[in-house]
This record gives sequence, structure tokens and C-alpha cells, in this order.
Amino acid sequence: MKKRIAILGSTGSIGTQALDVIGRHPDRYEVEALTAHRNAPLLAEQAVRFQPNAVAIADAAKYGELKALLADHPVKVYAGSKALEELVRLPSVDVVISALVGIAGLTPTLSAVAAKKQVALANKETLVVAGDLIRRLAEANGAPIIPVDSEHSAIFQCLTGECSPIEKIYLTASGGPFLRATAADLERATREQALKHPQWSMGAKVTIDSASLMNKGFEVIEARWLFDLKPEQIEVLVHPQSVVHSMVQFADGSIKAQLGAPDMRLPIGYALSFPERLPLSVSRFSFAQTPCLTFQPPDTEKFRCLALAYEALRAAGNAPCALNAANEVAVDAFLQGKIGFRDIAKLVEKGLRKNDFIAQPSLEDYLETDRRIRAIVN
Ligand code: NDP
Repeated sequence: MKKRIAILGSTGSIGTQALDVIGRHPDRYEVEALTAHRNAPLLAEQAVRFQPNAVAIADAAKYGELKALLADHPVKVYAGSKALEELVRLPSVDVVISALVGIAGLTPTLSAVAAKKQVALANKETLVVAGDLIRRLAEANGAPIIPVDSEHSAIFQCLTGECSPIEKIYLTASGGPFLRATAADLERATREQALKHPQWSMGAKVTIDSASLMNKGFEVIEARWLFDLKPEQIEVLVHPQSVVHSMVQFADGSIKAQLGAPDMRLPIGYALSFPERLPLSVSRFSFAQTPCLTFQPPDTEKFRCLALAYEALRAAGNAPCALNAANEVAVDAFLQGKIGFRDIAKLVEKGLRKNDFIAQPSLEDYLETDRRIRAIVN
């Protein structure tokens, strides 16, 4: 039987790549629901091609445009952020690909988990903000969460077939465009330089997070919740070739790694097809052409965001939520040219210091923390 898929954020980088994978395997998958924020033309184009049952646009002001574009098609059209939460609960949906960016993904992802759907999770910010809530709900509901992030997919793949506990994991990081930049270079870094990632083509927000290494910090927190690890079990290694996607070390000292060309369609495909593997025509890694794979510890003095993420993880409670809120505001300000690159870490630190700590937050506490820290950092 075909798996019926809902994609939260189908117009984004992960969403379009997920549709590419689905489009190449029409015998296995069909699209049940698609959503976007404001990009009505692309959402309509995707709906015409993949013929989902329903589409939703989060920005209600775009409803008229989307409805008009789909006037001659039998697809149901909804608008508003609540519509996303409802679409993922449709009984006809088997798998939800959570590919929104930022905290906007939190309530729709929780809704999918509450409805016991299988979730293919790309939206790392949801686990950063409320990892404990999501993990508890997923366990209580028996709702599997399969990682899409390449590093976590690598860990997940290394764990397949293992029944022994993890001793530690190594999360690899490309180092981003500023790996070799000096402090002075970072002071002058422009939006264009920060958006030029050496290995991956991604949405703007995650690309800036990659340049500041906040993305790696988020992935450390994401790994804590996905694999139930302590902060000291998670080590980051800079690996500029982006070929080893991450590694797991076991009690006997053995280390397993997952390798492949840097192409997100591989982890997206695995999240959809697990425990099988899809035939994918992504490029193959050549050992002969890249004979040297290097690994080094990250410079957390230069990349303060990674140190701040570890600090938030150790503090736990609502601290990672405050970290994320401050970062979302700061990255947005940087993308709008309002602040410099190094100000991102300064604003994130300010957000963390101003947080009113709550040890065991409820969903409402998380949402209130997000509102409060955004207001302060803004
Ligand atoms: P993009 O910015 O490319 O896409 C985001 C998607 O979410 C778009 O469909 C966008 O709609 C929608 N969206 C944005 N804001 C809202 C909102 N407030 N309400 C509803 N929908 C919204 O992001 P990416 O695909 O790059 O990243 C998605 C997630 O996956 C992020 O958490 C990122 O960290 C993670 N990730 C991404 C990787 C990548 O290679 N891109 C790799 C690993 C993880 P619209 O187009 O209309 O704006």
C-alpha cells in the first residue's frame, strides 16, 4: 500500500526536495496534504502536479490568491496557522514531513504526534524549544519520530540493528563559510558571504545558523532528545568535506559512521522508506577523488553560538527555548541588514541571560518564554 504523505512547508528547501523524492517513487508514495507560509504560486503549482486532497497557506491574507490559482482543481484549500494543525490530523495521512522553519513548526508537529502519525522531522527548532514535551508525547502515543537532519539520520542509520546503548556520538559540522575567518573577518561579514554555504544549499535561516554554528548547537540539543543522551555524550567535530554525516561510539570502543554525498534527498528518502532504502540517483561519493577526510574540534571562542547552545542544554528547562527565540530574532535582523554577524551571538547571550528560568515548562510556558524573549531581544 502507498504511504500517504503530508508536508508541512512543502515550498521550502526540504519540502521541495521531499517532493522530488516522492515524485520519483509514485508507486510507493502519494501526497495527501501540502502547506506553505506565503508562497501561493509555488504551493498551487505543487498541488496541480501532486494532486493532494488538501492544501493550507498559513498567511490567511494569501487565501484568495491560492483559491483563485486552484479554482479549476478539486483540491480543498484552507488558510491560517490552525489549518496546518488540522491537516496533519487527517485520518488519510500516514506520514507527516515536518519541514517548517523555526518555532512555527512546534504546534503542527505536536498535533501530528498527538494524532499518532509517523513524523519525519526536519524542523529542528521544535525539538530545541520543547524536546521534552515532544519526546514524552511521542512515547505515550507510540508515534515514531524519524530524523531528516542529515547528522541525526546518520546516527539513526548507525543505530539500526544495534541493541547496545550509545557511549557517545560525534556530530560532524562542515564549519560553514567562515571556518577559516578571523575575528576581524567575522566583524565585517556580510549577508551574502554568510548565505554562501560551501556544501549545502538550504533555506536562508538554516544557512545563517550554519555560518554561526548555532545550527550545530541546535543539532546537539536535537540529538539529546532524539537519542536520549547527556550533553557530555555529544561531541562536535568540524569535518569540512561533509562526507561523514555523523558517528556513534559504542561500549566496546567501536565507532560506526554513515557516509555519502551531501544531498538532503538521501536522509529524506531514508526517513520515508525506513527500514528499507530507496534507489536514489543522488551523486556517489568517490574515495579516490576525496582521499583526505579531516576532523578537528570547533573553535567555540570564535563561534560563541555553539558554546551558548551547550550552556542552554545544560541549564535545560526553558533555556533552549529562550536560546531559539533570541536566535530567530537575531538571524532575522541580520538578514534584514539591521545588525552585524557577530551581533547574533551577542543578542542570543542577552536573551539567555534575561530568561526567567522554568525547570519543567508546560507548552504555554514555552510559548510565553518565546514571546517574552522575542520582545526583549527585539
Ligand atoms: P525554508 O525556509 O527553505 O522553508 C521553510 C518552509 O516553511 C516553507 O515552506 C515556508 O513557506 C514555510 N514557513 C516558513 N515560516 C512559516 C510560518 N510562520 N508558518 C507556516 N509555514 C512557514 O527552510 P528549510 O527547508 O531550509 O528548513 C526547514 C527546516 O529543516 C528548518 O528547521 C531547518 O533547520 C531544517 N533543515 C533544513 C535543511 C536543508 O537542507 N534545507 C537541512 C537540515 C535541516 P513559504 O515558502 O511560503 O515561505
